[in-house]
Amino acid sequence: MNAIAQGTDMTIEMAARVADFPILGRPVHGRRLVYLDNGATTQKPQAVIDAEARFYSESNANIHRGVHWLSQHSTDLYDQGRERVRQLLNAAQVEEIVFTRGTTEAINLVAASWGRANLNEGDEILLSGMEHHSNIVPWQFVAQQTGAVIKVVPVTDDGELDMGAFSQLLNERTRFVGMCHVSNALGTVNPVEEIVRQAHAVGAVVLLDGAQAVAHQRVDVQALGCDFYVFSGHKLYGPTGIGALYGRRELLDAMPPWQGGGDMIHTVSFERSTYAPTPQKFEAGTPNIAGVVGLKAAIAYVQEVGLEAIAAHEDTLLQYATEQLAGIPGLRFIGQARQRAAIASFVMEGIHPHDLGTILDMEGVAIRAGHHCTMPLMTRFGLPGTARASFALYNTREDVDALVAGLHKARRLFGLEERSA
Ligand code: PMP
Repeated sequence: MNAIAQGTDMTIEMAARVADFPILGRPVHGRRLVYLDNGATTQKPQAVIDAEARFYSESNANIHRGVHWLSQHSTDLYDQGRERVRQLLNAAQVEEIVFTRGTTEAINLVAASWGRANLNEGDEILLSGMEHHSNIVPWQFVAQQTGAVIKVVPVTDDGELDMGAFSQLLNERTRFVGMCHVSNALGTVNPVEEIVRQAHAVGAVVLLDGAQAVAHQRVDVQALGCDFYVFSGHKLYGPTGIGALYGRRELLDAMPPWQGGGDMIHTVSFERSTYAPTPQKFEAGTPNIAGVVGLKAAIAYVQEVGLEAIAAHEDTLLQYATEQLAGIPGLRFIGQARQRAAIASFVMEGIHPHDLGTILDMEGVAIRAGHHCTMPLMTRFGLPGTARASFALYNTREDVDALVAGLHKARRLFGLEERSA
């Protein structure tokens, strides 16, 4: 668990936050909504919804290209959003933050730009066996184009990265290491400082996928020492369609653009074009300005609640959920890493994860069932998928109790449990 649980006071304090999230007040199938699918996307506080609506009603104009007041105003808001992301990740310079559609696009940017420019035949790309498809497939594209080879760090039975194998796989041909900070399928928190240290010792560049980390703990890219860090706003209480890439300045400066168009150029003629400096070089076309405004509000919201307080609350909840779920006969956890964040992944003997998901849904409990975009990891565990409950700052013990009650009901419906149980 990634922070010291601080007992029930914290939990009660966080429960008051439920009121900040209007969607949590709506019933589903006539039941109170118990939203435990936060790994897929988080719900949005009113402050984020208002910020986006206010942008369209008071501030909307295209950025950079206008001399008029409104355009300058919306450009200011966009720039403030970049500064907020810099603060969130503690990047040294605002130029190190590139806006993208999300984690997936950020990884594709790095693969297409850095990857194609720097990888050659026989170079090795080292990924972990618990990567999301978005940190696998873009590297397969690059491997096919460059002749580089993908190597995979195995995952232990407990769902941890096999660090012994990692050290052995690293060698002078390893040019790139791509790892999730926190696994979306298992909740495993990877030892990313150590990964960066060892990877840098052989001269490899490191990308950390922070999609499941930024909403659950404080991230400091300078302390981590990574070369790239990526995340999605929608898993951080922000809007969909906006996320960011952090890249070390000298790497971004040396990388070629990956999409061409307006805003990313310095000069254009039919003979040749020159490009804008980092980060504009990587932001072709009209960006998601309202999304940046919403993301800025989301970061302000989590900073106000406090990432340490969020981590402590979620750890308390995960501990409680682990104890309660462990009491259900036939339930088996997938992933029992020593360091886990906000995710309980499990299977139930005799009931397919999809059936569990459907039965829980009828009780108003939203979980995710399936491969979680980590098919190689599911293959590793010999499973088609798992059921995953993932927590956010607004979840409560009552939510865990509803999950547990729903699982007992599923067992009764499948004839695995007597009604009195
Ligand atoms: N990596 C991880 C670890 C994830 O959890 C996700 C989303 N499930 C992604 C990448 C992809 O994020 P997005 O779909 O927002 O681009």
